[in-house]
Amino acid sequence: MYTDYIREFESICKMFDEARQKYPEFDRAVNEFENSEKCSKLAVKHFMLKPIQRIPQYRLLLQDYKKHLTSESDDYKDTEIALTIVSEVADHANQSMKYGDNLIKLLEIQNSLIGQFEVIRPGRCLIKEGILNKLSRKEMQPRMFYLFNDVLLYTTPVGGGFRLNNTLPLTGMKVIRPTKEDFQNEFSIISTQRSFTISASTSDEKEEWLSVLEETIAENIRRRSSYTSTKQSIPAIIDIDNIDFKLGTKAPVWIPDARVSMCMTCTSEFTVTFRRHHCRACGKVVCGFCSDCKAPLRYLMYKPARVCQECFDKLSAEVDELSEDCADAISPTSETGPSITGSAFSKSHLKSRFKGIRMGSLGKGIFSKRRPAVLNEVSANVEDAEMSGYLKQWTKKRWKKMWFVLKGKVLYTYKASEDAAADDSKVLLGYEVRIFSSWFQGIEPSLVFEIIHSGTRSLILRTESPLSRDKWISALRNATIP
Ligand SMILES: [Zn+2]
Ligand SMILES: [Zn+2]
Repeated sequence: MYTDYIREFESICKMFDEARQKYPEFDRAVNEFENSEKCSKLAVKHFMLKPIQRIPQYRLLLQDYKKHLTSESDDYKDTEIALTIVSEVADHANQSMKYGDNLIKLLEIQNSLIGQFEVIRPGRCLIKEGILNKLSRKEMQPRMFYLFNDVLLYTTPVGGGFRLNNTLPLTGMKVIRPTKEDFQNEFSIISTQRSFTISASTSDEKEEWLSVLEETIAENIRRRSSYTSTKQSIPAIIDIDNIDFKLGTKAPVWIPDARVSMCMTCTSEFTVTFRRHHCRACGKVVCGFCSDCKAPLRYLMYKPARVCQECFDKLSAEVDELSEDCADAISPTSETGPSITGSAFSKSHLKSRFKGIRMGSLGKGIFSKRRPAVLNEVSANVEDAEMSGYLKQWTKKRWKKMWFVLKGKVLYTYKASEDAAADDSKVLLGYEVRIFSSWFQGIEPSLVFEIIHSGTRSLILRTESPLSRDKWISALRNATIP
């Protein structure tokens, strides 16, 4: 009887759900019962699971009992037999319990979710959940993430529940690890619909999410490829891998406003009136003049959207290379995004969607600052820097946070970590790097250091940790000698 109950548990639950949908009377009765005091806020399915949960407890009880018996005891043989039987059933129950636990978890999520999404689906299980900060254009926003084996959900905590923000299928999803030490708790999620950067509260938490995400995405691909091959259709996987980083096929991660102080193309500095724009193809922050055009983007179902000049050129060159009857090759498919029916795109159709955006009467380049050429040589996000990161600089009687890059014996200073041009640069040859023996402006000596050269004003810098200070000092000292 137990075995039957356990074996059939999954289908019993399904039948129960169907009955609730089919018969409103029954559903009402169940609701009434679940809301009554004797249920203490537990669902009927919770109680249905109880007999299954009980068996492992019997096993523990019997094991414990056996320990207190000697082999001569009257009960010994019976206990052994009972233990064997219960163990067999318990192992079986374990499987069902995993299913049951998952089901209860999914039910809980469904109940706390505000928005249209059917959490309970055959074969779906919860892999990981937790609050992470999502970087938006302006700020960090706490979001509750639910990772299932087929989809990633993110929601906003409101009152007692969670309002659904978005549902991202794992198919075609990628995660990107951080490249800079200053952003070690961050990682990015790239998907066809939406891409963004996430910040965990610790490096360990970030590692955990990254490895679970990578594993689940890979598992999803394996499952899908075995599914498609048995159905004898074209393996969708190959297509997805090929288009992975092709421009316009996936939503780019938008670089947050605060990480850029100037246009990433022409280096004009942004002001309150000279505004930032995001390229919808590459995610860079550019000025209006450098993004005065629109191009049809595949992830937006070829709707024209603002792009930077560089992306415009690349995308229009791609379309020029297409043959005239390429509708199939470029039509959005359900594998890579929401599918559209009835409208295939021809080459001329696509070409007509490349457009200019009319700019005001202001002349281009009016905001661009004349800088010495050396400041344009290295960008703040350069990949092969010897050192890079935020430091606080003592200037005009206060600490100012700036981004520093040490590359080729030159120290560059930037207003923001993604700036294309530097604010200042110092060739370090002949400089001296000094440490402090006493507190400076309320900061303990182990966090401060000074870069000086006879005849020039010294640069006083401060780090967040003594370890980081020592790293900077040794790298800088290396740069002062030929
Ligand atoms: Zn620009
Ligand atoms: Zn772009």
